Amino acid sequence: MPQITNHLPTAELQALDAAHHMHPFSTQADFQKRGARVITSASGVMLRDSEGEEILDAMAGLWCVNIGYGRDELAEAAARQIRELPFYNTFFQTTHVPVIALSARLAELAPGSLNHVFFASSGSEANDTNLRMVRTYWAEKGKPNKQIVISRWNAYHGSSVGSGSLGGMKGIHAQGGLPIPGIEHIDQPNWWAEGGDLSPEAFGLERARQLEAKIDELGEENIAAFIAEPVQGAGGVIIAPDSYWPEVMRICRERDILFIADEVICGFGRTGNWFGSQTLDLTPDIMTIAKGLSSGYQPIGGSIVSDEIAAVIGACEFNHGYTYSGHPVACAVALENLRILDEEKIVERVRDDTGPYLQEKFRSLADHPMVGEASIIGMMGSLALTPDVSARAPFAADAGTVGYMVRERCFANNLIMRHVADRMIISPPLVITRGEIDVLIERAWKSLDKGMADVKDAGLWVAG
Ligand code: PMP
Repeated sequence: MPQITNHLPTAELQALDAAHHMHPFSTQADFQKRGARVITSASGVMLRDSEGEEILDAMAGLWCVNIGYGRDELAEAAARQIRELPFYNTFFQTTHVPVIALSARLAELAPGSLNHVFFASSGSEANDTNLRMVRTYWAEKGKPNKQIVISRWNAYHGSSVGSGSLGGMKGIHAQGGLPIPGIEHIDQPNWWAEGGDLSPEAFGLERARQLEAKIDELGEENIAAFIAEPVQGAGGVIIAPDSYWPEVMRICRERDILFIADEVICGFGRTGNWFGSQTLDLTPDIMTIAKGLSSGYQPIGGSIVSDEIAAVIGACEFNHGYTYSGHPVACAVALENLRILDEEKIVERVRDDTGPYLQEKFRSLADHPMVGEASIIGMMGSLALTPDVSARAPFAADAGTVGYMVRERCFANNLIMRHVADRMIISPPLVITRGEIDVLIERAWKSLDKGMADVKDAGLWVAG
């Protein structure tokens, strides 16, 4: 029986992993060819692997470790809560102190009339809640036909049946019979890849008005909500042109539909405010939260809901919930995480200090001959790789071939950057220092150099 230990040889850990652990979003057979990198510990922005290598994590895990790794306060909050009350549910007219305190704190932090929280353990679950909640809301208001939710292609809202359907990832839809009925998609505001000859501003308006056209096509009386990430994360850190969001907000206000802002990545400081909706001046009826809520130290997510929706849902029995909705240990850890974000002024630092420093350095990567665009907001950014900047041309190879080659060079240089197709993305812990930002940029430049040489050697430096 294998024990949890860091002392087995790496090859043995990798063999057990390949034999018994099914990895998310992976081709399992690949692990037989090359074992997974075994991460054993972490502190601040640095990971350590089983070979003792120190790796700069420019992805904050999966966009979530906002306060950085290794904060004892969160370990202590968890231990305290486990001793006092490790679990109790919030069904059947019971509650507990951590869930009360966290709900009240989130109501304080969230903008406008978003004052009520329905908890889950992940972003996927929270978006499943949202789907059922907006449909139930309209049914309770006597408009049972308002059931369709409009989303966007290349959006990511999770990978459960409901949230995967809400998302616009074709690879997810291709497996398991998704999307479920009643979900429609419009195009994303990705000017670099899809803007053609339009200016970014004209393109942003065009994409926003697809929402209006879709509402007209399907009938406002049939539409429950529009869901979107303030900045698409897993789709490649796509920052919409400035014209996009004001127009989307106008349409949502004028038409009788709800707006769900999926803040799973953008929330808790990522864009330089507590929520991306504040940075981009959005007025959601519901915000999806997860990830940075606990900085990933515990699995917790949820939906922050407006007074109006909460009143309607609260008047009926909402037949929905998870065993771990408002889990006391997760809530206690989230509260401690929010205290640290607040007291150490981490969100302000992203807005006023280290955020602008990272932005300036990151934008300088656009000078690299392989980079067409370096776009960044707060501490989430992406580089569009291209063999021909002026034409914004993709590579002739399958999308992602080149991005993967550069990612491999990043890994070899002890830098974790991800690729989405041929965009390289970063989303580092929000506590990253100026010195660490310099290291990140230096390793990224070096990885781009090596990656570009690999691409040329492989004969792939060809516009498609
Ligand atoms: N929404 C967004 C915007 C996300 O980025 C993610 C995860 N990357 C999710 C939802 C799903 O969250 P989870 O993986 O916790 O289910």
